Amino acid sequence: MRSVTTQSERAEWARHAEAAISAAGLRAGGARKAVVDLLAQQDCCLTAQEIRDALVAAPGSTPGMASVYRALDTLTDLHLVHRVDLGGQVARYEPARADGDHHHHAVCRGCGAVTAIEDDALESALHQMADRLAFEVDAHDITLHGYCARCTARK
Ligand SMILES: [Zn+2]
Ligand SMILES: [Zn+2]
Repeated sequence: MRSVTTQSERAEWARHAEAAISAAGLRAGGARKAVVDLLAQQDCCLTAQEIRDALVAAPGSTPGMASVYRALDTLTDLHLVHRVDLGGQVARYEPARADGDHHHHAVCRGCGAVTAIEDDALESALHQMADRLAFEVDAHDITLHGYCARCTARK
């Protein structure tokens, strides 16, 4: 398993996001820019609440929850952000790489910890399956549910 994202991939996503936002005729700046800058530093997904908490803790503007949700909706519509549904009550959001490079998640039922999983063998197995089915796959969701090592040890 390789490390999830490199520094240059993150910087690349931020540039790609800024270009897509201006191509859509949207103004840069405000809550949207703050959300892009924050997500650009993430390896994995955050909830809207976690995003707002991080922005409030940082110096500068303190966007309200409504602006954070609006920014996330716009970024999701522009395919810059993936809305990740891990089966809980809250949606999570993470940067969607322009080249389609992505990862999946393992979620612990005990402590709720979310682990990013990236596996080339899994991705190529999915491609082969799509070929066999003659199915033009344009997205897939894979989430592992269970107990992390710490929770397993405590059981
Ligand atoms: Zn993730
Ligand atoms: Zn995948």
